Amino acid sequence: MIILQTSKKLLKPIFLSQRTKIEWMTRLLSKAKLVGEEGEVPIAAVVLDSKGRCIGYGSNRRETMKDPLGHAELVALRQASWIKNDWRFNDCTLIVNLEPCPMCAGALIQARMGQVIFGADDQKRGALGGTINLSEHKSAHHNMLISKGIMEQESRKIILDWFKDKRNISRK
Ligand SMILES: [Zn+2]
Repeated sequence: MIILQTSKKLLKPIFLSQRTKIEWMTRLLSKAKLVGEEGEVPIAAVVLDSKGRCIGYGSNRRETMKDPLGHAELVALRQASWIKNDWRFNDCTLIVNLEPCPMCAGALIQARMGQVIFGADDQKRGALGGTINLSEHKSAHHNMLISKGIMEQESRKIILDWFKDKRNISRK
């Protein structure tokens, strides 16, 4: 039993202060902006290990790679699993500027992600509370710590501005 408890303790994701969350979100938003300029929906994500080191980075690559699975979270997750050499992420943290969609939220649950931090919620496609909360669904046999609303306004603005620009371009 003691061994079990010890190993459970080791599997906790890192506690990030509000300031550190904001620092990561600031980086992600500047990456997302660049991705937006390439014609992708401006979303970027990182995976941090239990010590807070970045082991995965991804940005939206759906258009560039013609890949329906090319969401930032999945790209970051795949890189992190390669670095970690494991599919289990109980001690890890994923940070992304927009609330994950059902596909990504499902993947994060399957990956046993310890903690998910996001900026803006997504009332149209969000699957961690925006439309549905898959982390609380009875199919989710895993508890993720979720913290949202980090730089919420900036995170929302970057998405809204991108869609606005896109509409303006298609009208020209
Ligand atoms: Zn997604």
